[in-house]
Parts: sequence; structure tokens; C-alpha cells
Amino acid sequence: MKDFMTKMVPLTPSDRFPFKCRMCGACCRHVRESVPLESLDVFRLAKYLRDKGEDAGGMEDVLAAYALPVLLSENGYTAFMLKTVGADDACIFLKDNRCTVHPAKPRACRTYPVAVGPYELGGYEQYLSMEQPHHYKGPQMSVKKWVQRYCSRQDFEFLNVDIGSAQEIERLLQKIPEEARKRAMVMFLFYKYSAFDLDKPFMEQFTENNQKLLEALRKLAQRGDTE
Ligand code: SF4
Repeated sequence: MKDFMTKMVPLTPSDRFPFKCRMCGACCRHVRESVPLESLDVFRLAKYLRDKGEDAGGMEDVLAAYALPVLLSENGYTAFMLKTVGADDACIFLKDNRCTVHPAKPRACRTYPVAVGPYELGGYEQYLSMEQPHHYKGPQMSVKKWVQRYCSRQDFEFLNVDIGSAQEIERLLQKIPEEARKRAMVMFLFYKYSAFDLDKPFMEQFTENNQKLLEALRKLAQRGDTE
């Protein structure tokens, strides 16, 4: 990850960058533990695969088939990354240099080569990935328009709730006594990645689930306080 970050150049919304997609599939190779699958991505993928007639099951089945868990902290805060296959660590959805889930590809893929992440002082900041320099010949793209086009309002609504609660979740996980950790992790995975009806709007469900997760973790953390 450190190596990955050294290839990211900070951008401002008023910047421009030359870019042309070469349809070479290079961005989708050598992506081991590099492409995050957020809750909203998993929801969209599960729905897309189901509507395509592929029996993907629910969100938890999509994770089991296409993602790998990555521990973000020793307290158990977990993220998911797309699985890779083959000697070149290609994304599991790459076939013949094409993305087989293009209409439902994760946010990180949609905004590529621009990455959008939280700014430590609030709001969001953008970076340009310099890993595939052969793409940087072509028409000039406006960063502001790129982000507006590929990062939807729903993406930002999701990030606001998800990132907005991350510090508290991490703090609560830290306080939960060892014997209750497993239960906390089951709740974390259930509320973030499983307790969704694919036929109902995502954001209402995610916001409610996040609230339930926080309440459940607070109760478990209180046990640690009283011991
Ligand atoms: S989901 Fe599609 S765009 Fe994203 S890495 Fe995989 S093949 Fe590439």
C-alpha cells in the first residue's frame, strides 16, 4: 500500500490532466489488495449480478465469491478488496481486457485514475494515480468535472456516513473485551455488508444499519468499561 501511495499525486478541483483510456486492461492487473469494495459497491454488484441472471445470492455471497477481507486495524476493523487471479494478479472480473461488471464496477474503478478520499480537515481530496503513465497522453480532463461525472451524490452520501462513523467504531472495537470481540466482528460484518434488501434503497438501510451497529458496539464496549 505504501508503494501504491507514493504513486499518487495530489490534485485540486481546478487542475486538469491529459488522459485517454487505451482499453489495454493494464489498470486491472497487478491489483492485489488494491481495489476496495465498499458496502455500496457490494450492494450494486449483488443487484447487478442478480438482475443479469447470475445467481450471485446476497451481498455476503458476492463477498465470498469475489472479495478478500483485509484487516485495517488490530481491533478488527475490516475492509474488503477485490480478489485477483493468475500470475499477473488480475482482477477477478477482468476477461479479455474488459471489465465484465462495467455498469456496476466499484467506485474506485469508476473514478480511476482519480482517487477520491477523505481530507483530514474535513471534506474530500483527490489524487491522480501515476501507475500507468502510458494513459497520460490525450485530451485534457478537468478534475472537478471528472469527479462530478464518476462519483455520484449517493457515493458521497455513503462516504459521509461510513467515514463519519469510522473513528467511533474503531474506538469502540478497541474497548470491547477479548471474549466479546468475535460477536462484535459478526455484528460489524452483518450490519455493513449483509443486512440489506436489494430491492429497497441503499442509503436508508445503510444509515439505519450503521446506527444499529454503533448501538450494539457501545453496549459491548460498556462491558469493558465495567470490568
Ligand atoms: S472491477 Fe472491472 S474496472 Fe475494476 S479492476 Fe475489476 S475489471 Fe477492472
